[in-house]
Amino acid sequence: MKIRDFRSIFIEKLKDKYSKGESIRLLKILAEFYLKRKTPEWDSFWGMPLCKENENKISDALIQLQNGKPYQQIIGETYFYGLKFWVNESILIPRPETEELLELSISRIQNTYALNTEIKILDIGTGSGVIPIILKKKFPKACISALDISKKAIILAKHNAKLHNITVDFRELDYLKEDLSENFHFIISNPPYIDPKEQKEISDIVKHHEPYLALFPPSADPLTFYKKIYRDAKKNLLKNGAIFLEINQKYGLQTKNIFVKDYTTKLLKDISGNDRFVIAEKK
Ligand code: GLN
Repeated sequence: MKIRDFRSIFIEKLKDKYSKGESIRLLKILAEFYLKRKTPEWDSFWGMPLCKENENKISDALIQLQNGKPYQQIIGETYFYGLKFWVNESILIPRPETEELLELSISRIQNTYALNTEIKILDIGTGSGVIPIILKKKFPKACISALDISKKAIILAKHNAKLHNITVDFRELDYLKEDLSENFHFIISNPPYIDPKEQKEISDIVKHHEPYLALFPPSADPLTFYKKIYRDAKKNLLKNGAIFLEINQKYGLQTKNIFVKDYTTKLLKDISGNDRFVIAEKK
């Protein structure tokens, strides 16, 4: 069978879940992954034969896509900030918004400290570990701690740190129950921020395949994590320090207001124009 013929089957079988354009994009990703090639010439690629072994591999992935599994979990990896990271079902697949959070944080840290300063950074709810790993690559002298309640997430984050030859102090703990005792120059977090009342608005692919713990805070208050971060930062954020947060677009002002009386606070939009980040800088 030519890859073009397989493409027609692929698009047809996924038509309830993905548009034609999305299906072609997914097939390109799977083809590059299973055929182990980067293919700049897609036009001639579609005319090539697909051997039985690769057809079986991609057909197996197709069944998983039909079941709603995100492609990143099927191939076990994703690209974030231009780098490869392992992913699995125990973490939230890193999102483009979090790349924006990192960009904002990196430029703010660079404006205050030289690259080789021994700054201390805390990441709360690290998941796959992408945030501390990229920060450590950027600021090699920084001392970075990263927390997560999930043992499986911490295991994966450590694998990712190893993949990039990076040392991060990963700790498995329940942040909401923890009394923070160390001081930090910067606190960064993309905590669970979806209001359980918003369940209906979340796609089935996300709801059924990514961890509930990473998406929804454990209490009815969607701002739980931000309030705890505010309380901790009051005693544990060092001079010139700042807090970088990814937030729920529906609670932009409320999240900003938690910090506004003690910090110079900015509410920023993501590339799609939604309120997505709060940056709070020590006055
Ligand atoms: N942005 C993620 C989503 O919409 C949620 C991230 C989070 O809860 N921290 O799926």
